[in-house]
Amino acid sequence: MKETTHVPVGPPAQLRAPGNRDNYETNPEDPDGLICKTCKSQIMAVQVHHPIWDGPFPMSGSGRVHITLAPYCPQCEYAPSERGSPIKC
Ligand SMILES: [Zn+2]
Repeated sequence: MKETTHVPVGPPAQLRAPGNRDNYETNPEDPDGLICKTCKSQIMAVQVHHPIWDGPFPMSGSGRVHITLAPYCPQCEYAPSERGSPIKC
């Protein structure tokens, strides 16, 4: 019997889940920016691509995507996935 090495998948457990705005506060030096309450890092944003399913069949579409910004702290949190959930029309 052949043994397969189990490689853990998913985000590292020691990092916080991204996107909780309770963990962020307004940057005193930049009112338009956010910083992390924990480490004072500038909050980064990932462009999340949501495919738009507007075709005649389930899970089909014209290939358009809707882009949203997902914030995260680069020190305390893992980066959000760039692949968002599909939008059904
Ligand atoms: Zn942080």
